[in-house]
Amino acid sequence: MKRIPMIAGNWKLHKTTQEALELVKKIHHGLPQPGEVDVVVAPPFTAIKTIADFLKKSYIAVAGQNLYWENTGAYTGEISAPILKEAGASYVIIGHSERRQYFGETNETVNKKIKAALDYVMPIVCVGETLAQREADQTQEVIQTQITESLANLSDANMRQIIIAYEPIWAIGTGKTATPAQAEEVHAFIRQTVADLYSPTIADQLRILYGGSVKPDNAHELLAKKNIDGALVGGASLQAELFIDIIKSI
Ligand code: PEP
Repeated sequence: MKRIPMIAGNWKLHKTTQEALELVKKIHHGLPQPGEVDVVVAPPFTAIKTIADFLKKSYIAVAGQNLYWENTGAYTGEISAPILKEAGASYVIIGHSERRQYFGETNETVNKKIKAALDYVMPIVCVGETLAQREADQTQEVIQTQITESLANLSDANMRQIIIAYEPIWAIGTGKTATPAQAEEVHAFIRQTVADLYSPTIADQLRILYGGSVKPDNAHELLAKKNIDGALVGGASLQAELFIDIIKSI
């Protein structure tokens, strides 16, 4: 089965709405013709509507960087799936390692968030091991637990809407990238884990992105791997030229 590649930019806590608009205009302007690639940008919440309105006639889609699992209620400071959708998002990043590290995200809350997102926006679910876990040879065990617990009790139809991002924590924002072989090994393992949990067909359709210091000079080699279906890009997505070059390397 052919999987459409995806390049997603995670802007994290960067860019005011005005700055975000300037960046997305540059990306839109320099983008190659629509081809067989899905392009997504994830600005801060407050910029989503402005960016989504600007991108209406473009093939770039917008994502939230997080959400809460209740749709409405007394949850001060939270944003829900219907609110994200109304603002113009069609994806949401869930379980990014920074949220796991600084905001107490667990596999259980990731699972709740995935279920809350599914009727409204498509989840991009992040998993990845720390350097200590990799050095202790625990990568597969950690990833298997994250996948099994985060993706618990979903229907096959739900699974068809989900995208996974493998982001080794030691490679995020550090300039250290997993080698294409290291990344491919984990991607193949994730696909096998999903095949065992759901079915080989679901696993075959699943898009698995790589994230961790992806830049134009390493993107091509990573994206050429059989089980790497795209990239979740942090730092390099904040510079239009770099992000466009990564998209072109597909
Ligand atoms: C990320 O935060 O998802 C990420 C991959 O960041 P960077 O590309 O900067 O390593």
